[in-house]
Amino acid sequence: MTLATNPPPAPTAPFGTLFATTMTSVSWRGGEWTDPVVGPVENLSLHPATHALHYASACFEGLKAHRGVDGIVRLFRLDRHVARMRISADLLLLPAPPPDLLSGMIISTVAANRDEVPASPGSLYLRPTLLGTERNIGAAGSPSTEALLYVLASPVGDYFAGGDHALRIAVETRRPRTTPQFGRVKSGANYVMALGITQEAKREVGADQVLFAPGGDVQETGASNFLLLDEGRIVTKALDESFLHGVTRDSVLRLAADLGYAVEERDITVDEVVEWTSHGEAALAGTAAVLSGVGEVVVDGTTRRFGDGGVGANTRRLREALTAIHLGVSPDPYGWTTPV
Ligand SMILES: *Cc1c(COP(=O)(O)O)cnc(C)c1O
Repeated sequence: MTLATNPPPAPTAPFGTLFATTMTSVSWRGGEWTDPVVGPVENLSLHPATHALHYASACFEGLKAHRGVDGIVRLFRLDRHVARMRISADLLLLPAPPPDLLSGMIISTVAANRDEVPASPGSLYLRPTLLGTERNIGAAGSPSTEALLYVLASPVGDYFAGGDHALRIAVETRRPRTTPQFGRVKSGANYVMALGITQEAKREVGADQVLFAPGGDVQETGASNFLLLDEGRIVTKALDESFLHGVTRDSVLRLAADLGYAVEERDITVDEVVEWTSHGEAALAGTAAVLSGVGEVVVDGTTRRFGDGGVGANTRRLREALTAIHLGVSPDPYGWTTPV
């Protein structure tokens, strides 16, 4: 725990386009993991027949290390992200990295790049990535026998630097985000499946994002979880196989309960979202933006507005409560942070 005397300011470059100098990698072969190597970020050398490039055997994680007001750098909910990556790996028949190996790699990556962790509201975004690397284009029907795991780090700035405006969300009730058995996998394959639908909503109704609600069952947007809230309540879909179990979602629900909100984890219909526009707020939860306000939903071509269309007061309140833990301003009663 050494304190940098002069942390870099929050970068202004777009999220995910800057990289810290050092990454950590290991490979898996013959059922064994090699020792992690901490080294410079450089291009990977992959054979053109690499399994992941053909058969999408790849998953990732996304978590942040924050530089606190006391100068200490803290990872947020490391154990949860490690556990989730192991679930993703299992579902894709990739080798699940042992928890100590993966958490050690994430901590080593933060430590090696500690001087590059920006001051708040910036942070260091960590991107553990696992891919099947067997060189075999005939292995369409079998798991990769080799894998590569690395942890890349990206200094990121203030997500709301362009102004904290609320989002316009299009509701998609016909087409699913992904297939039911892949809902819980954090995988690029899920993103590319949703991409065309999202681009179409941008083009046709000027939406920022799409809320997937197949058959009227509200799930998530494809990169963040969906919440309804007001002064007394917070409502979100109960955990099932259909959507990604966000660490931000879990953290916000816990803090909301502590602040006296009634937490309801249950099914939400599109009709209820429409009804909620008349008296409540909506928000999206995810590591990149923490909590984003939803100002408008577009349902069957009709726009409905939440309140005045801005970010709601309860959304702001919960975002601040979570950010205060990230930055070591509030105590961390649940042991969510890992100082590095
Ligand atoms: C990563 C992700 C989220 C948000 O999860 P957090 O742990 O809160 O960052 C939500 N949905 C999908 C599909 C995701 O990939």
